[in-house]
Amino acid sequence: MNEHSSQQTVLVIDDEKPVRQVLSTLLSDLADVALADSGESGLALANALIPDLILLDISMPEMDGFEVCRQLKQAPEVSHIPVIFITGKEGADDEERGLKLGAVDFIRKPLYPSIVRFRVTNVLRMQQINRELERLASTDPLTGANNRRQFMTVGQNELLRSRRYKHPLSILMLDIDHFKAINDKFGHGIGDDALKAAVRTFLHALRAEDTLGRIGGEEFAAVLPETDIKNAGILAERLRDAISKVKIDTPEGDLTFTVSIGASEITPDDDDILLVLERADKLLYEAKESGRNRVICG
Ligand code: GH3
Ligand code: MG
Ligand code: MG
Repeated sequence: MNEHSSQQTVLVIDDEKPVRQVLSTLLSDLADVALADSGESGLALANALIPDLILLDISMPEMDGFEVCRQLKQAPEVSHIPVIFITGKEGADDEERGLKLGAVDFIRKPLYPSIVRFRVTNVLRMQQINRELERLASTDPLTGANNRRQFMTVGQNELLRSRRYKHPLSILMLDIDHFKAINDKFGHGIGDDALKAAVRTFLHALRAEDTLGRIGGEEFAAVLPETDIKNAGILAERLRDAISKVKIDTPEGDLTFTVSIGASEITPDDDDILLVLERADKLLYEAKESGRNRVICG
């Protein structure tokens, strides 16, 4: 992992301008540095930027660093961001209190440039590794689509959001037709290529706000926010059509394939995304039974 490959962001919250300036200069080659001069503006910037690290002064007028940290740790959007406290005080009391609030480290004033840089670098590295682990834990390595677990998490969140705002939401279940025969005829490697091409094709036809997941071997699902069943049917038909036009060159000749799709919209009774997926799965089964390469909406 190259620490310069994707620029990370550090938010400095300190009421003293000279401290902000020193830290900004000191860290400018390690990360993008954002500055806030009070607890309030720091919280607002943390929510807006979702930085990779927050350097937080303890003693500030109005809202002190402890209170800022407490509020950060209570908000799910920002609670994961590591906090390093900056303190001018001697003794262990502040340090203990800060660590209890969830801070990962402490820096004492006066600031020693190399120590500040080491501590910040350590935490930024840890964040990069965490990000990479999260990515690995949530994606299917073959196709890059969300894996089943991640899809379920996103799907459940979207379901809850749609219920809260009484907005429509639909689910598609998609299963490649006769995939076993494709593997048998062309080999598993070409089968893998077909799965990758299917995901590329799905993602191309879906909208940015839709989420695709690989649910099983050659089974996929999509969450379509703000989409009633009529529009889900139109989108599903677009996916079906796009897949039927995919052509893969192989030593055994061109490979083409088709997909069957079941589509279902949430009802006010659905409190679990699994219920919607089950309905869509039944409709997918009907699509298979009635000849494949088709969409059935319910
Ligand atoms: P249907 O039209 O009824 O869906 O038939 P099907 O052959 O697609 O369905 P079935 O569930 O019988 O077979 C799915 C096949 O998908 C069997 C399995 O070997 C293959 N498969 C599952 N995961 C992978 C994978 O990662 N790569 C490849 N190449 N094949 C896979
Ligand atoms: Mg299949
Ligand atoms: Mg299957």
